[in-house]
Amino acid sequence: MTRPVVGFIGLGIMGRPMALNIRNAGYELHVYARRAESMQPLADAGAIPSDSPAAVAQAADVVFIMVSDTPDVESVLFGELGVASAAKAGQIVVDMSTISPVNTRDMAARLAALDIDMLDAPVSGGEVGAIAGTLSIMVGGNAAVFARVQPLFGVMGGNIVHIGDHGCGQVAKACNQITVAGAIAAVAEAMLFARKNGTDPYKVREALLGGFAGSKILEVHGKRMLDHNFQPGFKTALHQKDMDIVLDTARQIGLALPTSAMVAQFLNALVGSGDGELDSSAIVKVIEKMSQ
Ligand code: NAP
Repeated sequence: MTRPVVGFIGLGIMGRPMALNIRNAGYELHVYARRAESMQPLADAGAIPSDSPAAVAQAADVVFIMVSDTPDVESVLFGELGVASAAKAGQIVVDMSTISPVNTRDMAARLAALDIDMLDAPVSGGEVGAIAGTLSIMVGGNAAVFARVQPLFGVMGGNIVHIGDHGCGQVAKACNQITVAGAIAAVAEAMLFARKNGTDPYKVREALLGGFAGSKILEVHGKRMLDHNFQPGFKTALHQKDMDIVLDTARQIGLALPTSAMVAQFLNALVGSGDGELDSSAIVKVIEKMSQ
């Protein structure tokens, strides 16, 4: 593909820095967010604000989407003034949100009927990785389409893997969230165990980081837990959404995931007590309360 015109829809914690990296790499960029103020930092960097997803689709060859949940991607694509309403044959839609793999396959088929190629390309690496352009990107969809979008992925990510057909990127992301959720709960228990045994948990974390228990979760989330600094990061409500995707998908194929189910309850407890906007490392708050 010669240098494509790019569209970006959804400019939150993740979407804003990802879109900025595309703009800073010199691409013509058309953006849409529901709130005008979310588009301002992009406009300041030379991107062109749009008043609907359809307007972005009219201008762009490749349209990226980074919104919250499955119904949000549905509405951006197929709602009134959605991307599909302005579809051009040969266009590429890349959904980087974390949503259901089952619905992703359905959306890809509906877009294919309009001659639009879709990739699912959810990410891991958080706001830090989005700003640095070092995200891990897990891609599902046609390999030739993946190859055409690869240079744009390279602007946003470091570890970019084509996993398989439509929905496979979302399956990989669900695996990521299963792993992260279990690890957050384990780190929370370890930090509490240290403190309740009269041992400095900061020192314990420091020691563990050099051994087999060392991990990004212990490093980043462990520190947040010890400082009780739960500014997101990754919002609890979004992690709850991801565990719903995991458990729904597992149920549909008759799969038991007991650890994921338990951690989903911790997330439910946080959201139910009004803490849904905190970083999901706040799971430690639930575990601490159980022993108060
Ligand atoms: P966020 O800060 O809440 O941003 C989401 C953005 O999507 C907001 O700007 C929101 O607009 C927009 N949006 C939601 N529904 C929409 C709709 N129906 N139409 C148009 N715009 C809509 O969330 P985020 O942290 O950037 O996460 C975005 C996606 O990335 C989620 O699927 C999340 O699970 C995934 N993710 C997040 C992280 C992380 O560390 N944060 C890491 C990996 C993956 P308004 O501002 O107008 O509400």
